[in-house]
Amino acid sequence: SETLRARMEERLLGARFRYLNERLYTSSSREAARLFRGDPEAFEIYHRGFARQLARWPQNPADRIVRYLRRRPASLVVADFGCGDCKVARSVPNQVHCFDLLPLCPRVTVCDMAQVPLEAESVDVGVFCLALMGTNLQEILEEANRVLKPGGTLLVAEVASRFENLRTFLSAMAQLGFRSVSKDLSSSFFYLLEFTKTGAPRGRPVPALRLRPCLYKRR
Ligand code: SAH
Repeated sequence: SETLRARMEERLLGARFRYLNERLYTSSSREAARLFRGDPEAFEIYHRGFARQLARWPQNPADRIVRYLRRRPASLVVADFGCGDCKVARSVPNQVHCFDLLPLCPRVTVCDMAQVPLEAESVDVGVFCLALMGTNLQEILEEANRVLKPGGTLLVAEVASRFENLRTFLSAMAQLGFRSVSKDLSSSFFYLLEFTKTGAPRGRPVPALRLRPCLYKRR
């Protein structure tokens, strides 16, 4: 009965993870912030489930971000939006501002990434590693644009199946002031997209900015 109990607990954890994950993709970032602040245990369950999903992938996208940063000057200031366990910050010598809804590690500044406590044009590289979650994606990316220096870099790693049409997504990004400079579509799990900030967002709604939610299957 011990193993039965353990299996039931596993199932419940898996179900809670999938529920929370779906909530994150179908709520605004403000609602997500409220959800997790009111329920830190839910945040912990989410992250355990997330780590377990990621362990099944052949490659962790955060490692690709780290590799990218190591090839560039250590003097570049980085902002990691939705940093999770701060893997990027722990793996590079750069100054990395880490933002998340709750602190999984002491480096995290707790905030909604749609509103980060950074000066305008203070960051060289912005990172969204599996973190473009809320329904208010435009607001979140406008915030990233605000803190990025002109000519700065935005790195987006996202689950491949979230893109309905990559070209449409890239042209939506262009309207938000981010020109696509390179894309690595070689992993069947995630895309790695690199953008340069060309200027301010156009300041109009960009309905083409859409990503499918990433819903994990029960296994
Ligand atoms: N970048 C990390 C974690 C990805 S999981 C990695 O690659 O390992 C997505 C993370 O985004 C979670 O930690 C979640 O809490 C965070 N997140 C989601 N919405 C957020 C928001 N509105 N503001 C800040 N962080 C958010």
